[in-house]
Amino acid sequence: MATAIGGPRVLLRQLREVMAEPLPSQERLDKIVDLIAVNMRTDVCSFYVLRDDGALELFATHGLKLESVHLTTLRLGEGLVGLIAAEAEPLALENAPAHPAFAYRPETGEDPFNAFLGVPVLRAGQTLGVLVVQNRDRRVYGEDETEALLTTATILAEMVATSEFDSLIKPGSDIDLRRPRTFAGASFTDGIALGQVVLHDPRVVVSNFIAEDTDTELRRLEEAIRTMRVSIDDMLEHGDMQPSSDHREILESYRMFAYDRGWVDRLNEAVRNGLTAEAAVERVQNDTRARMQRQADPYIRDRLHDLDDLANRLLRVLTGDHEGIRFKELPENAILVARNMGPAELLEYDRTKLRAIVLEEGASISHVAIIARSLGLVAVGQAENIVSMSETGDAIIVDGPAGQVHLRPTPEVEQSYVDKVRITAKRRAHYLALRSRPSVTQDNVEITLLHNSGLVADLPMLNDTGAVGVGLFRTELQFMIASKLPRLNEQIDLYAEALRIVGDRPIVFRLLDIGGDKVIPYMRSAVEENPAMGWRSLRLALDRPGLLRTQVRALLMAANGRPMKILVPMVTETNEFRQTKLVVRKELERLERAGQRVPERLELGAMIEVPSLLFELDQLLPEADFVSIGSNDLVQFLTAADRANPRVAKSYDPIAMPRLRVFRHVVDMAKRFNVPLTMCGELAGKPMEALALMAIGMNRLSMGPPSIGPIKEMILGLDLEPIRRSVAAALLEGSDGMPIRELLTEWVERQNLPIA
Ligand code: PEP
Ligand code: MG
Repeated sequence: MATAIGGPRVLLRQLREVMAEPLPSQERLDKIVDLIAVNMRTDVCSFYVLRDDGALELFATHGLKLESVHLTTLRLGEGLVGLIAAEAEPLALENAPAHPAFAYRPETGEDPFNAFLGVPVLRAGQTLGVLVVQNRDRRVYGEDETEALLTTATILAEMVATSEFDSLIKPGSDIDLRRPRTFAGASFTDGIALGQVVLHDPRVVVSNFIAEDTDTELRRLEEAIRTMRVSIDDMLEHGDMQPSSDHREILESYRMFAYDRGWVDRLNEAVRNGLTAEAAVERVQNDTRARMQRQADPYIRDRLHDLDDLANRLLRVLTGDHEGIRFKELPENAILVARNMGPAELLEYDRTKLRAIVLEEGASISHVAIIARSLGLVAVGQAENIVSMSETGDAIIVDGPAGQVHLRPTPEVEQSYVDKVRITAKRRAHYLALRSRPSVTQDNVEITLLHNSGLVADLPMLNDTGAVGVGLFRTELQFMIASKLPRLNEQIDLYAEALRIVGDRPIVFRLLDIGGDKVIPYMRSAVEENPAMGWRSLRLALDRPGLLRTQVRALLMAANGRPMKILVPMVTETNEFRQTKLVVRKELERLERAGQRVPERLELGAMIEVPSLLFELDQLLPEADFVSIGSNDLVQFLTAADRANPRVAKSYDPIAMPRLRVFRHVVDMAKRFNVPLTMCGELAGKPMEALALMAIGMNRLSMGPPSIGPIKEMILGLDLEPIRRSVAAALLEGSDGMPIRELLTEWVERQNLPIA
């Protein structure tokens, strides 16, 4: 086997010299392929660039006919070069022409070459081109040579991505990684936002690729790996991260990779080949990202994501950039881009500057999405691979209703959105004009529209939407944004402020619903396998009555004589509701004894969101002053499908017959016991779903403020009775009939209802 002259380190040093020379791009590239060929003792070295149109164009060669440069092209997947680009994997062959994918191009004069080694030129998981060496002899390229070529490819990728070759690029052959991109994701909110990307986990930009001194770089790498391992071990031991099992699982996975010999060996190998420690991390990360993009198995994909995150962590240690920009100032019109984030993390940002969030994962009823809506942010989820393709500062447009994201939009796209925003503003003005119209259908059915809210800051929106009041105030959100547990007086002030803002309009305060994915940073809880079904919400409150008592006391005192409505979340058995009533009664008596004002009327309601409760509504309803369906949880538990996991949640339509029958059962029971019923899950804010709910007789709907306008507009045009009859018949008929959603779609068309 031929050995390289001086090895890859010498080659990289020579490359650095070539890059420092003031040469025209083509000349520089020609020199680079010459250097590689000479250093690696190959007869040929060619560099193909992947153009925007999917063609791989020969950009430079040593050893093939020079006339074929910028002439020879191969399609993605065509020939060996196309195969490497498509698979993003190296390919070494002893006898290339015998390979079934071999595509002969006469103009290159490729005939005499048998041995072939090609590697993808990757950056941020994207294939930018292919680097190939060839030899006349039939020979087997060793792993060392593949490594060396991959290392060289890292440098080339950097040159391509930083537009080193701009002057070579012909019109229509835009190879810029930073070209405009559109992502089709899932809609989490309405609204359109134009702004600039802020990466939630900022990527570290590596600028110095070629090592001055390899031993120093090896030491730096070793030191950084040690620091990173200590910090991960530390987090696992002290539970510094959020104590949900998801985070623990991720950390465990980080730890596994951090100690993985294979990964560390690959990093060391890349440094030994002449890269700096940072560049070595990026080089190994490239492989990971490329594999990630081709990986269909969600489990493996997640693990590759973890490995990618870990590499980013290592880069931060190496560059000393531990914090990133997360806690720093946000620019105006900031649009957060993240793989995923918890609701508490979102609340850490300066909300006055934030316009939108874009996630690679998430589901529209995950709490982060709910909070985004409550903050009036535009949100899109499931925008695959957006993190690796964006940079902080990139222009970005988030189209909420379409679930689309335009990264680095063209001026045309941007203009069309500027127009759309203008139209949206008009629509908003239209909804604003509806705010004082009573919410009554054409056939005189009154539908009460209420807000879901959770932050005092979003309560003034009541004035814009004309909603009757607040059907659900999620008190835990205020706890999530606080840095420490709010004391009694702080809680009183907060609830009093909420009451002051809503004035005469009703507001339903829901008792703390923490746990699951709603993590309170300063309250540590044990790690659980299944946090959504774990020690959360009312269960936690009844076990820790101190917290519950303080909150109830604060609510009663904040009322200062005015009426008060308190809602109890996650009731699993009527008995738990009774226990809560007891706590409330005791606090009331305590207040009376102290000679303080008690609410002129106190109503206590229960949330119906745990299936078990459905079977003892006859016990619960006589005890409750009102009830509220939490469809987000109820549907997740009915279908055994995690509300935050779109992979499963999307399979079960919440208004399909079984779920709608459940809701109707609650409606019927509430009527029978004459107890007011509200729907406060996210369903109520979606037009088609809201229509289904109205059709089964639900006439109190509580939703995120931006949904009020569109739902009200639909109500105003609606002739409900015939739809009621038709849905009732469908529910009777069972699964033989038309699916409910299709049935409703027909009605929407027939009545020409304004549903987007
Ligand atoms: C629900 O579960 O539907 C609900 C309204 O509560 P949350 O989304 O806060 O769990
Ligand atoms: Mg709930």
